[in-house]
Amino acid sequence: MPELPEVETTLRGIKPYIKNSIVERVEIRQRKLRWPITRNLASRISGEPILDVTRRAKYLLLTFPYGTLMIHLGMSGRLNIVPESSRVGKHDHVDLILSSGSVLRFNDPRRFGSILWTSSDPFQTPQLAHLGPEPFDTSFSGDALFKVTRGKRSSVKNFIMDGRVVVGVGNIYANEALFRSGIAPRRLIRNISLHRYRRLVVAIQDVLSDAIEAGGTTLRDYSQVTGEPGYFKQDLLVYNRAGQPCSRCNSIIRRRVISQRSSYYCPNCQR
Ligand SMILES: [Zn+2]
Repeated sequence: MPELPEVETTLRGIKPYIKNSIVERVEIRQRKLRWPITRNLASRISGEPILDVTRRAKYLLLTFPYGTLMIHLGMSGRLNIVPESSRVGKHDHVDLILSSGSVLRFNDPRRFGSILWTSSDPFQTPQLAHLGPEPFDTSFSGDALFKVTRGKRSSVKNFIMDGRVVVGVGNIYANEALFRSGIAPRRLIRNISLHRYRRLVVAIQDVLSDAIEAGGTTLRDYSQVTGEPGYFKQDLLVYNRAGQPCSRCNSIIRRRVISQRSSYYCPNCQR
């Protein structure tokens, strides 16, 4: 599933090709995604310039003069830049044909992605209105986390994966950040000190920026028909490593299910 680093890499990959381009035509082959693609989308954006391309959480936002196109990659979605002559594959559901001759193509085998148009403020839509800060925002800090967690009983892993607390910390990154900061995934948030919250925030930022950096090596693929960013080859220290020795202390990495998600941790390094 594309996580925040993959979405950020997608943003960096497509932006140089589509920003300031004019959408000449829109080709929709399959309207039924997670939610149906907004009706009359073609008439809303045809002939209009893409003024900017940004990201909020896992949504890519294409800003037009009269509104914003919000694209989510869901479980298996992908955006690629392809030449207009390129063959259309089975799961290529939407094309934005640009004045530059390039095509922004949305491919999504499982169709959990979405393409929604809003003519009002995208940050006030149900998709974005209630989200917590971006992980690299200054408002996401150890001090802020410490403050909101006093007296609360939730486990730290559930807490940092809650999009109202911070966006973009998926299961892999939550596991890795907790290992890097030495915090056990089941530790209750009310029992974690300010000092440890500060370390956790740095660990979350490090693990995400490492992944974004790893993704940077796939950027050149965006201009090719076969472009496929896929998953980043990142060195994972605990995720999916149950039964293997901890890279720091040689204790055996354990796996435990917390809220239906696999948690991997070192029982010695993480308290
Ligand atoms: Zn260890």
